[in-house]
Amino acid sequence: MLSQRANLISGSKTSGMRNLAARLKAEGKPVVNFAAGELDDNISDVVKHAAIQAVIAGNNKYTETIGIPELRQAIAIRLSQQTGLDWSADEVAVTAGAKQALFNTAMMLFNPGDEVIIPAPYWTTFPTQIRLTGALPIFVDTALTGYVLDSAAIAEKISQRTKAIVLNTPNNPTGSVIHADVLGEIAALAEQHGLWVIFDQCYSDFVYAEAQHLNILQIAPNLRSRVVIIDSFSKSHALAGWRVGYAAAPKALTAACSNLQSHTTSNPNAIAQIGALAALEHYDSRYHEKVLARLNANRQLGLQILQSLRDVEVITPEGGFYFYLNIRCKINGQAAEGQISNCAQLVEHLLANAQVAVVGGEAFGDLNGLRISYAINESDLEQGLWRIVNCLNAIV
Ligand code: PLP
Repeated sequence: MLSQRANLISGSKTSGMRNLAARLKAEGKPVVNFAAGELDDNISDVVKHAAIQAVIAGNNKYTETIGIPELRQAIAIRLSQQTGLDWSADEVAVTAGAKQALFNTAMMLFNPGDEVIIPAPYWTTFPTQIRLTGALPIFVDTALTGYVLDSAAIAEKISQRTKAIVLNTPNNPTGSVIHADVLGEIAALAEQHGLWVIFDQCYSDFVYAEAQHLNILQIAPNLRSRVVIIDSFSKSHALAGWRVGYAAAPKALTAACSNLQSHTTSNPNAIAQIGALAALEHYDSRYHEKVLARLNANRQLGLQILQSLRDVEVITPEGGFYFYLNIRCKINGQAAEGQISNCAQLVEHLLANAQVAVVGGEAFGDLNGLRISYAINESDLEQGLWRIVNCLNAIV
């Protein structure tokens, strides 16, 4: 009955777990929800007031398909400051979240049979969107190199059919940041083989300790005509539900994305765009510093608690807001019935026995991982992490 395309997809596992945890909580179960990929902070007053004013002023019409010019211009200015290159509003396509920016990009860039390299663990949606275009995701397993991207491993996967590389820094789910040397090496590969780079920097506002976020165009401005920058207001401004993100790319690509969007969703929400514009024009540094300081405190508290885990490797996140655990020692492929033989069963075990919702690594192309969001309140974090530690330590 359904299309072949329908068979290529199942629902997002991260969204599925987030919904399940919310449902259990609503039923009164004391579940700690570590599954959501969003901040639990309130939003900045600046953004709130701009949106309220926008409603009162009657901004209830369709906007330009690809976003209001003022927002595209403000994003272009921000990108010019970040990359040191000139950007114009025409090179910015505003979308309903970065998810749509990535989807538009994939649909307008890839042909059936193209290959697209994705480092794993990856954000769950990348390969699904790529498969929907008929292209083939080709994975590079970073678990083999301590969850750090190795350009030689990427080079090995490049073929005649490779069209693009997807980079996500800071990475969801591992929190790894791609450092200048590796970015430079990957940029050189892209240049040498004429590849596109889809550069997802949705978590760039959340980088800790000595790590520094770098946009690939800061390292390799020569790649300008083949880079698509993907970003979002969901994480940086705690506006996940408002659905505003963007793709910044050469004009021919943003124009094609605009055509696609004109036949699918039309413009992103008008009020949300005005809120996003206020977020850029009246940058509320106190708000952002507070959010980052709270996340960093959660990160440090969490790392301290997770030190009590036995036989589980915890990746120290340099960015983003997730802990990523290698739980290979806790699953036994040969396990008898009733025992834990895979990651999904471990996730179920944690939900049933420790009342915590986490996301299993299969969602990220890794059969041995667990993702735990630390963008939650401190008391839930502390309580929930101890439950995870005790539950995992009890599995021998
Ligand atoms: N890219 C990455 C790496 C993400 O983690 C997410 C959301 O979790 C997105 C893109 C999509 O963000 P949104 O569509 O909410 O802007």
